[in-house]
Amino acid sequence: MFATAGTLERKLTEFVSTEPVDWKFYVQVFTWTVCLFESYLLFRQFPLYSKTEPPAVLKEHFKDDTFKKSQEYGKDKAKFSLYSGLFKQILDSALLHYGVYAWSWDVAGSIRSALGHGPEHEIIQSLFFAVILFLVLSIPSVPLSAYQTFVLEEKHGFNKTTPRLFVTDTVKGWLVGFALGAPFLAAFLKIFKWAGDSFIPFLMAFLLSFQILMVLIYPTVIQPLFNRLTPLPKGNLRERIENLASQLNFPLKYLYEIDGSKRSSHSNAYFYGLPWSKHIVIFDTLIKQSKAEEVEAVLAHELGHWYYMHPTKLLVVSQVHIFSILALFPAFIHAPRFLQAFDFSEEVAAQTPTILSFILFQMILMPMEAVIGMATNAISRRFEFEADQFACELQHKLKSENMKDMGDRLGTALITLHVENLSTVWVDWLYSAYHHSHPTLTERLKALEAYQAAAKKST
Ligand SMILES: [Zn+2]
Repeated sequence: MFATAGTLERKLTEFVSTEPVDWKFYVQVFTWTVCLFESYLLFRQFPLYSKTEPPAVLKEHFKDDTFKKSQEYGKDKAKFSLYSGLFKQILDSALLHYGVYAWSWDVAGSIRSALGHGPEHEIIQSLFFAVILFLVLSIPSVPLSAYQTFVLEEKHGFNKTTPRLFVTDTVKGWLVGFALGAPFLAAFLKIFKWAGDSFIPFLMAFLLSFQILMVLIYPTVIQPLFNRLTPLPKGNLRERIENLASQLNFPLKYLYEIDGSKRSSHSNAYFYGLPWSKHIVIFDTLIKQSKAEEVEAVLAHELGHWYYMHPTKLLVVSQVHIFSILALFPAFIHAPRFLQAFDFSEEVAAQTPTILSFILFQMILMPMEAVIGMATNAISRRFEFEADQFACELQHKLKSENMKDMGDRLGTALITLHVENLSTVWVDWLYSAYHHSHPTLTERLKALEAYQAAAKKST
C-alpha cells in the first residue's frame, strides 16, 4: 500500500512540476462552483421563510408573533448571506485575476530590502506578505460586518454593540491575530526549511502543541480582552451544577458567568480546558432567560459531550484532516510552474517560497474542503444527539429521582433558546447538512421524546 502511495505521490509531483496546467483558471472554477452551490442552498432555504405556521411539535411554544419575527429575521439573514457571499467571491476572484497575490509578494520584498535584509530572509518577507494580504482581504469586509451588527441585528433587537465597542473589538481582534499569527507563521515556515521533505511529523507535532497552547491561553489571556468572566454566584444554579459535575467526576475547576449580553442577546453555554482542569462558562443571557433547572439540563447535555469524549474525537478527526492535507502538499512545493500560473515572476517562482505554494495549494483543495466540512457536520450532529441522550439517561447513571425529567427540562431550555434567539425552525435538509453542526430543533425534540420514553421503560 505504501508503495502505491509513493508512486502516486511521485506521479502527482511530476504532473504538477511539468504539465502546463492553467491552475488559476481551475481555482476560479472551483471557488465559483462552491459560491454558486452555497447560493443555490440559500434559494432552497428561502421559500421556507414564507411559511405562516411553525412545525406541529413547536406550535404550542411559538406564539404567532414570535414565529413571524423569527421568519423575518431568517429571511433578512439569508439575504445578507447571499449578497455578502457573492461580494466576497467577486472580490476574491478579482484579486486572483489581477495578480494581487504576486503584487503583495513584491511589495513585501521591497519592505524587506528597505529594512536591509537580503532575499535569503524569506520568512521576514513572508510575514510582511501575510500582513498585506490580511489587510487586502479583511478591510473590504469591515463594512459588511458593520452592516450586519448595526443594521441587521439591530433591526431584530439583538444588537448591544456600540460603534465604539465595534471599533475596539475589530482593532483588538486584529492585534491579537498579529501577536499570535506572526510567531505561529514564522515557526511554521521555519519547520519547513529545517525539516526539508520530511516535514510532516514535525509540523503535525507543532500544530498539535499550538492547539493545546490555545486551549491554555484562550480563557486566561484572550477572552478577558473581550469579555468579563465572573465566578457564578453562590445559589441554586451553582449548587446544581457543582453537584452534577461532582457526581460525574467532571474535573470542574472554574465556573463562570460571561457578559455575552455586552454585544448581543444571543445565549449559550460551553466548557473547555485540559483533561484535569475544566472551565464551564454560561452566558448571562441564558441564566436570565431560563430557570435554574433548565440551565442545569443544558449543562447535563454539555457534560455528555465530555463523558463521550466528543472534543477529543473531533480533535483526532482534525488531525487526520491536517495529515491528509500535508501529505498532498509536497507535490506543490518544488513546482515553479505552479506559481507561474498565478502571475508570479519566473524569478520568484524559481525560489518557490513556501508560504506562496501553501496558500495557492489550499485554494486548489477548496471543493474537497467543502465536502469534508459536510462530513464533519454529520459527525458533530451525531454527537449532539448522543449528548441529548446522555442527559435523558442521567436518571439511571446517577440513580437519581430528581433527574427523571432532565429530557423535558432540556427540551424546554432548547425551545426557550430558539424563541429568544428567533432561530429558524423550518430548515431545508441540504442547507442544514452543509451549514449546520447541530440538528434542527424539531429533530432534537423528536429524538428527546424517544430517549425519554426509552429511559422510562428501562426503570
Ligand atoms: Zn452540544
